[in-house]
Amino acid sequence: MTTFSELGLSAKVLAAVEATGYTQPTPIQAEAIPHALQRRDVLGIAQTGTGKTASFVLPMLTMLEKGRARARMPRTLIIEPTRELAAQVEESFKRYGHDQRINVALLIGGMSFDEQEKKLDRGCDVLIATPGRLLDHFERGKLLLTGVEVLVIDEADRMLDMGFIPDIERICKLLPFTRQTLFFSATMPAEITKLTEQFLQNPVRVEVAKPASAALTVEQRLVASGSKDYDKRSRLRELLRANPDVANAIIFCNRKRDVATLFRSLEKHGFSAGALHGDMDQRARMTMLHNFREDKLQLLVASDVAARGLDIPAVSHVFNFDVPIHAEDYVHRIGRTGRAGRSGKAFTLVTKQDSKHLDAITKLIGTEIEWLDGDLSTVVTSESEGDGEERRGRRSRGEGEKNGRNRRSGRSRKSSNEDEKAETPIAAATEEIQEDEVETILEPVTSFESENSQASNVRSSNGSRSSRNTSGRGGRGSQNARGRTSGRDEHTPVGFGDDIPAFMLIATNA
Ligand code: AMP
Repeated sequence: MTTFSELGLSAKVLAAVEATGYTQPTPIQAEAIPHALQRRDVLGIAQTGTGKTASFVLPMLTMLEKGRARARMPRTLIIEPTRELAAQVEESFKRYGHDQRINVALLIGGMSFDEQEKKLDRGCDVLIATPGRLLDHFERGKLLLTGVEVLVIDEADRMLDMGFIPDIERICKLLPFTRQTLFFSATMPAEITKLTEQFLQNPVRVEVAKPASAALTVEQRLVASGSKDYDKRSRLRELLRANPDVANAIIFCNRKRDVATLFRSLEKHGFSAGALHGDMDQRARMTMLHNFREDKLQLLVASDVAARGLDIPAVSHVFNFDVPIHAEDYVHRIGRTGRAGRSGKAFTLVTKQDSKHLDAITKLIGTEIEWLDGDLSTVVTSESEGDGEERRGRRSRGEGEKNGRNRRSGRSRKSSNEDEKAETPIAAATEEIQEDEVETILEPVTSFESENSQASNVRSSNGSRSSRNTSGRGGRGSQNARGRTSGRDEHTPVGFGDDIPAFMLIATNA
């Protein structure tokens, strides 16, 4: 069994590792560190959670002990696809390099150029950057890349997804040919292979965990759902309430705007939730992440881009609000739980529209994922809806009829194109009302542990643990939902009969 002391790391770095409490290198560390220290190019095929950050930070710290940085000429450069990842790598340098005089500069969007320039002027040993901001500084003439001895490209496949490959190519061409390159990617699509062929020289290939094996510690379930967004939101709430072991969870959406909508909805329904998406400014993202890490928020609704590679050690659950479009993202998402040998659970909401993407995931991970409580055949088209609306079969009994009526009235003016509608404030308001209608009848029904669990032990947004909290919701939606025809007053619009667009019934302050 390899130990850290066998890897060739400096005494200072070994002491820092020991102080961190790590007793043994992870496989990517054991394999990549000796090659990195021998100044070989490394192609590391590893995903987050494998300890890959330390596999480049530790040898870099060892190598940087000799030599000094010059103004505007960083000695090493690390490219990260997202600001959060860049900030996390900076944290790693602080953690492992606190005993060393290493200057680290972070060049990420959303932060002031001036501060970043000052750091560059002072000279930095390590420059951690997202591609866009790095090139901005370069174009302003504030940065010389000709002194870079080591280049790290992290999460290359994510760079590809985000359209950063042309930037990466450009950056690579600005660096000295003699540099060492440490290149990491969880997967190796053709474009990434091409990039490595172009910019790595005779690399050592280190492959630690195929994406398929990432899922082993994670208990996965598919959850059949109606395909409308409000069906999915209520199905999600149902799951959250039925699983009291949700200590904290990341809920992934495919689209940024859905992150915002779902976050608002969860908050409204009394859950302790935060959101993370690319449009938030950096400070808001960091605060959100900090609160989630510190357990001040139970649920984090996130897009793939924002959540990629986040180091949040103990997430008990992952919920895929949408089946990811890229199969690899499924592996990355569920890799947020079940980390470092812990067990985790991942639920994926699946609608009838998702079969193509679900097939791709099954193919990638090489195994069928079990359904939680019935596959898509239990989601039936309700005749009472009359417009193709889907509802789970078992819910069409009992109170379901009431819901069917409510929902139909709420949907009266709704376009079939949910995505387009959700982009306008009016559509968002309409959505909220419909959601409240659904809320009136759905009960928690399912759990990994117990099919009959009615548990609703979910932290409320003020941090306390409370039972199901629907009464405290703003009266706006629920009032409208229930009083659409009977609750007419002098403000009710006329000329629509019973078919008033839901948004026109929202009380305003005017
Ligand atoms: P990463 O894959 O770099 O995101 O690291 C995943 C997690 O593993 C982080 O929380 C690290 O702090 C932790 N970690 C890294 N190396 C080790 C190690 N040798 N032993 C235990 N945990 C580690």
